[in-house]
Amino acid sequence: MDNLIENINVTTIDIKWLAERCSSLQEDLPRLSRQMITLLEKTIADLDSTQFEDGDCAVVEQLFEAFDAGAPEWHSEPVPSALPMIALLPGVGCRIVCALTAQGQWLLEGPDGNSYDTTLPDNGKYAQIPNPQKITINVTARSLFINAIVTRKQVFIQAVIASTLCNLLALATSLYSMQVYDRVIPTQGIQTLITLTVGVFIAVFLELIIKKARSLIMEDAVKEMDHELSHKIFKRLLGIRMDQFPASVGTLSAQVRSYETIRSFSTTFTMFILNDAPFALLFLAVIMFIAGTQVAIVVLVFFLLALAIGFMSRKRIDIHTKSGLSGANRKMGLLVEVVEGAESLKSSGVGWQILSRWDQLSRMVMEDADKVRQCSDTANYLSAMVQQLSYVMLVCVGAYIAATSTDLTTGGIIACSILSGRVLAPVGMIPGLIVQWGHAKAALSDLEKVFLLEQDNHEVSQPLSPEKFQGRYLLKDVHFSYLGRPEAISVDKLVIVPGEKIAIVGPIGSGKSTLLKLMAGLYKPQSGQVLFDGLDMQQISRTHVSDAIGYLPQNIHLFGGTLRSNLLMGNSCVSEEDLLTICQLTGLGSMMASHPKGLDLTISEGGNGVSGGQKQLIGLTRLILSKPDIWLLDEPTASLDEGFEQRVLSILAQKIAPEQTLILVTHKPVLLNLVQRLIVFGPTGIILDGPRDAVLERLRQNSDSAEGSHQNVGAC
Ligand code: ADP
Ligand code: MG
Repeated sequence: MDNLIENINVTTIDIKWLAERCSSLQEDLPRLSRQMITLLEKTIADLDSTQFEDGDCAVVEQLFEAFDAGAPEWHSEPVPSALPMIALLPGVGCRIVCALTAQGQWLLEGPDGNSYDTTLPDNGKYAQIPNPQKITINVTARSLFINAIVTRKQVFIQAVIASTLCNLLALATSLYSMQVYDRVIPTQGIQTLITLTVGVFIAVFLELIIKKARSLIMEDAVKEMDHELSHKIFKRLLGIRMDQFPASVGTLSAQVRSYETIRSFSTTFTMFILNDAPFALLFLAVIMFIAGTQVAIVVLVFFLLALAIGFMSRKRIDIHTKSGLSGANRKMGLLVEVVEGAESLKSSGVGWQILSRWDQLSRMVMEDADKVRQCSDTANYLSAMVQQLSYVMLVCVGAYIAATSTDLTTGGIIACSILSGRVLAPVGMIPGLIVQWGHAKAALSDLEKVFLLEQDNHEVSQPLSPEKFQGRYLLKDVHFSYLGRPEAISVDKLVIVPGEKIAIVGPIGSGKSTLLKLMAGLYKPQSGQVLFDGLDMQQISRTHVSDAIGYLPQNIHLFGGTLRSNLLMGNSCVSEEDLLTICQLTGLGSMMASHPKGLDLTISEGGNGVSGGQKQLIGLTRLILSKPDIWLLDEPTASLDEGFEQRVLSILAQKIAPEQTLILVTHKPVLLNLVQRLIVFGPTGIILDGPRDAVLERLRQNSDSAEGSHQNVGAC
């Protein structure tokens, strides 16, 4: 078997080290998150010992996948020009071959240090350190598509060669007719006729084979391209910073989905430009060669006429495809909204209003589609008419020349009339292409809007990945407002030291949740800084922030799958035992016990069918299982009754270590037992901040003190 190597013991330490080293050697590679490393470790642990030799390559392959770097190319010996390379060496383990010295020694780097070796063990496997498939910061949707085609230029060149052959073979039919009329009939050369006919049969058959081969080549490339584009676009979507997310989920999803239209247009158009269009000119040249300039001019005039007809309809088609697409996106948005809010809709009885909005949008979309169809139909009919007229005129001019001179034969006229069809065929494609272009342009401009949204670690080329976080916060002159809204929060200064346990209280809409999201790095303030352990939050790699900070949102979202998958969320470092223990502790155990499937209980998309309290328990259990270093909890017990609240209180007290930072937004007095410091929000921001008891006392004394500026009562 290709991947088989004997006696290699790749350990988890090796893989961790390898992941780290690859990231530092190839700076553009992402730092792997704790979870990804654990996943790789688990793969090693799970490998069946009988297949272990095989698995070593598989683990490195998975590592490449985690780096989003495609599949590694394995070599049987190190390639000096490709160093540094990952080496899997029998009897040695996992190494990086860094260099070949002037003395002919290989410099090997391993988890325990460096070594020099003149000879390397036999049967080793070597792969170049992965090159990331880099998505640059300012990448646009357009460049993504152009890149996808340019990187596959080889395939397109092959397809063009195949098409060239097809087109040349197609010449055979026209030349055959010419020979038959000019040579065979006048001389009654039956032998020649048979030979020519067999030749043309072979040519037609060859054309079929080449066409099939071309479509196979293209099919694979298009499939691969689809996969690559959908991967990159979805990754881009996942990377959008939370405060940049557009309000309409439906519209956004429709915009993202529309990439298929652009892909399909870009491949068709590329083939048209590379293949069909140049051949129209070649056939025109052949006509000129056979029948002379006058006939060629007739065909050229009709060619230009058909082209003009195609382009004339362009503007109208453009307008209607654009508005049609925007209507279709809005329809999708409405659909998503209805599915999500079906309960509220039913209970409030306003279904009819939504229905009339739906009808209106459907009508709009249909009207636009109708207009586009009308335009393209007209263009198609006109171009068909032009083709017929061109044929008639060609025969007319050809016949006149044949009748008045010896420059053109009957065979020549027939050959030219067949060829003129080939010249005009690509022009006939233009109306269809223009419709596709309209759709693709509208979809591209939509997608471009998604690509303009800022990403996590926006404009940070090398996000920081500190080993460990302490949980120190400093907020300076922070101002944040949601898109197109007035300022939601402003904080002049807020210092939180590692290990502090803080509660935030305040009226609804005062910005408590927003503050927590800023501290979780989900939002970026429009001005000011959120420093986390002395580093700007946006400079720290998102995966590292997510690993370290346990943020429990106010509204817990569940994903379609099982209870287990929702609790683990890809976190594979949790043992079954831990999982069950924590579930029992948080009270989820009783939910599982009441269901025969237990942890494999099916959860539908968005967690429909799970109560608010249960969602909260699942969210809390999920958070505790992820073992964060910093805890940011937004109303963790809002939907729980007293009994569960007490449970949660005691489990949080037990799980949050003294050195870990806790910031808790709550309106439940009992949770204040977890904290020593209390921050009170008013409509204008923080109005009180200090030791819990002192602040509570102050609040009791003066219930009006919520008005006024931010006072530090630490000294009171
Ligand atoms: P709190 O948690 O204190 O109740 P929030 O931080 O959720 O308040 O909200 C602060 C303000 O920001 C409110 O006025 C709210 O309407 C607004 N807001 C919250 N979330 C969004 C959002 N996603 N888009 C626009 N405005 C929002
Ligand atoms: Mg809130």
